[in-house]
This record gives sequence, structure tokens and C-alpha cells, in this order.
Amino acid sequence: MIDYRSDTVTRPTPGMLEAMNQAVVGDDVFSEDPSINRLEKMSAALFGMPAALFCPSGTMTNQIGIKCHTQPGDELICDFLSHIYQYEGGGIAFNSGVSVRLVNGDRGRITAEQVLESINPIDVHKPITSLVSLENTANRGGGSCYDLNEIQRIREVCDQKNLSLHLDGARLFNALVAKNESPLRYGELFHSISICLSKGLGAPVGSVLIGDTPFIQKARRIRKVMGGGMRQAGYLAAAGIYALEHHIARLATDHLHARLIAEAWQKKSFIGNIYPVETNIIIFEVSNTFTAPQLAVKLKENDILAIAISPRMIRMVVHLDIHEMDVQRTIDVIARL
Ligand SMILES: *Cc1c(COP(=O)(O)O)cnc(C)c1O
Repeated sequence: MIDYRSDTVTRPTPGMLEAMNQAVVGDDVFSEDPSINRLEKMSAALFGMPAALFCPSGTMTNQIGIKCHTQPGDELICDFLSHIYQYEGGGIAFNSGVSVRLVNGDRGRITAEQVLESINPIDVHKPITSLVSLENTANRGGGSCYDLNEIQRIREVCDQKNLSLHLDGARLFNALVAKNESPLRYGELFHSISICLSKGLGAPVGSVLIGDTPFIQKARRIRKVMGGGMRQAGYLAAAGIYALEHHIARLATDHLHARLIAEAWQKKSFIGNIYPVETNIIIFEVSNTFTAPQLAVKLKENDILAIAISPRMIRMVVHLDIHEMDVQRTIDVIARL
């Protein structure tokens, strides 16, 4: 099977397994795991931020971030398609008691003007707006990337209105590679950043929450409350360190592969709109001949796995375990459909 369902399906490479095997570990709840301490230092330094916290998942890093930045009864602003709203099980309400002001952005990306319009006035009737959360790349936007100038403008609005700015950077490295941007700039623009090691970077488990020292101290406490304090998880951190050291630059290959596959779909009469392929995600509409689930079944008969994300839309995600040969075979299958 060539598995395009998600970039989370990758298995550790031999080099990564070797790094895991060699890891020096300790009890991380006592902050005594050298591998985790190293991963946290490395991640913070990469973004020029003071501190970081290793967590089991990106859902947890986002949810801890939201909890740290808000009080129950507050409101946060995010795009309608955001992972924090669509795919975290109602965690914003469950964990933080926070309400959500949804914005209809452009393929998952919102503007400074939309943020400004969504901030509640100081009025006892209204929830207090305290947080803005952006997603880069935007998953449901088809891996779309933010324009850094727009993020800069959003940050200016946040500064004026005393709001915190969080980044769901599950696929931030895809954006950094695609747009040749510096992580340091992101460290300047956001109060907190969540990155996933288990997506395009190819680690088996783990996400990192990055921010200033008081924020991460608070986050460490909330991680424990949520049951996310792990013990000798340095074996996982070692995989994350290996991923940061070896798997960032190669994301450009995934982006190229995604474009080639999208070009193959473009030639098919039964394909409608294909979102611009900016990174490793391909989202397209299926018109008349098939529904999206029917097309997914057709692909599966040809040993290709993709997800129907709606009755008319398919998502394919390219990753480390999709090799050039697989891409060629996929293109051949698409041509024959
Ligand atoms: C995958 C993902 C997350 C985190 O998901 P986990 O499975 O909990 O690690 C967060 N945001 C986005 C945009 C994602 O794609």
C-alpha cells in the first residue's frame, strides 16, 4: 500500500531507530531525562525562544497553550477550519472553558483585519477576547502557507489589543522550507508555538510547545494535570532530535512529489478544483463520475490509500515513506483511472 492518508503514518528510519537505541534517559517528571532536556533546549533555540516542553501530541501542546493563555469564559479567535476547533474533540471548551470566535479565512488563513473585527468590545455581555490562534501550514487549507507580513500585522493587532498569539505549527517546517523562512522570525512573532515531530519530520511520537520561561513553567504544570507527564520518554525525544537534525531539508522532496501528483490529477476530466499545492498536501474536488469515497475505494483497489475528507473532497499527504518510485506508480494509476 502507498499510504497518503496522513504524514503521521511514517515508521522510524534505521538511523532514527539507532538514535533511539542509543538514547540516554531519566525520569522526565523530575526533569532528569537528558534526551528530553536536549530536545527542549534545541527546539527553543531553533526559534530563539527561552523554553520548550515535550508533549505526547500536538493536540496536547495546542490545548496546553490555549489553557495557559486564557481564563474560563474568555474567547479565542481562529479560522473555521482550524485543527484546534475541528479536530481536538471540543478540547477548547473541555479543557479551558473558552468560547470560540470563528473566522472564514482563505484556505485556513485569516487576516489582521478579520482579527480586529472579531475582537469583542469591553462590555459585560461579551466574553473577553484573549487569544488568537493561527495554523501554518493550514491542514484543511491544503497545506497553505501564511504570508509573514500578514502574521506581522496580526501580531500588531494583538499587541494593541493585549491578546496572546499562538501558532499551531504542526507542519510549520513545511512552510519554512517552502517559503525559505527563518524559524527565528516565528519566535519573534508568536507568544507560543506548537510543532509536531510526528508529521512530516517522521518521528513516531511527540510535539513540542515553545514559549517564554514563565509560560513553559505553567505549561509543565498543566501537562502534569492532563496526564502528559512521561517518564523515560527520552527514547522518543531522541527520535525527535534526529528528525530535527536530518528531516527538515528533505521536506522539499515531499513538496515536489505533491506537485507531480497534483499535475496527474489535473489531467483527469472527473476532477474539479484542486487547491494550490504549496507544500505536502493535495486536496481536490471530485466531480460527477465518482463521489470522493468511491474514488478512495478505486484508489485502494490499486494499493493507494487516500482520505475522503467530505463527500466531494479527497486529501492526499506526501511524506518521508513515499519514495520516488511510489510517486511514479501513483501517477501511472491516476492516468489509468
Ligand atoms: C496533526 C495536527 C495536530 C496535532 O495532532 P496530534 O495527532 O494530536 O499530534 C495539530 N494541528 C494540526 C494542524 C495537525 O495537522
